[in-house]
Amino acid sequence: MTTIRNNLHSVRERIASACKAAGRPVEEVTLLAVSKTFGPDAVREAADAGQAAFGENYIQEAVEKMALLGGLPLEWHCIGPIQSNKTRLVAGHFDWAHTVDRLKIAQRLAEQRPEGLPLLNVCVQVNIDGGASKSGVAPEEALALAREVAHLPRLRLRGLMTIPEPQPDFAAQKAVHQKARRLFDQLRDAGLALDTLSMGMTADLEAAIHAGSTMVRVGTAIFGGRAPKV
Ligand SMILES: *Cc1c(COP(=O)(O)O)cnc(C)c1O
Repeated sequence: MTTIRNNLHSVRERIASACKAAGRPVEEVTLLAVSKTFGPDAVREAADAGQAAFGENYIQEAVEKMALLGGLPLEWHCIGPIQSNKTRLVAGHFDWAHTVDRLKIAQRLAEQRPEGLPLLNVCVQVNIDGGASKSGVAPEEALALAREVAHLPRLRLRGLMTIPEPQPDFAAQKAVHQKARRLFDQLRDAGLALDTLSMGMTADLEAAIHAGSTMVRVGTAIFGGRAPKV
């Protein structure tokens, strides 16, 4: 087996164990392979090992990669910050955008989503632990933004996404993820039809699954360490 194939296997085992420990069916959790900074060959290798959903942070890099992988039936998720001048690329090329944290960005994505493509799946990004310099809407503003996004054409609001600060241990990781889970439940109780809670990465996917994550975004454990972005 190749390294990526092996790694994918291990990550799927981690997800399965965490689901079992949490008493959840494994089908409830989707694995997003985060391929940022890795080339098309790494994506192809993961695809050969059965991986279909890929997450990318840098929009230009992602679009170039997609062009090189045109023949493969992959699902692309934008998980990096979306500036106004990048919305057209996201609307034209991705299946999902996880990082909507302003109405203006959602409106542009709705206007720019081509008619010929399916609805763009969208998550509202929430700054769940209040990191000062972080993207994401404040938790108390999430419901209002989600309501507005839910009414936009060409988009399908799916849920919430978070990127908490690293925590020292499982209990601390789980506490932050549970905060996101409670907010997710609140929005559903308020009548929004959400099915996706995008949280958990290489270091904390078990805690995220315990708290109710439905989509873990894993890069390092699949593709290896990344060179620092310069
Ligand atoms: C890079 C990244 C990931 C993957 O992180 P790993 O620790 O490598 O698993 C997940 N989500 C977002 C938003 C990222 O930027």
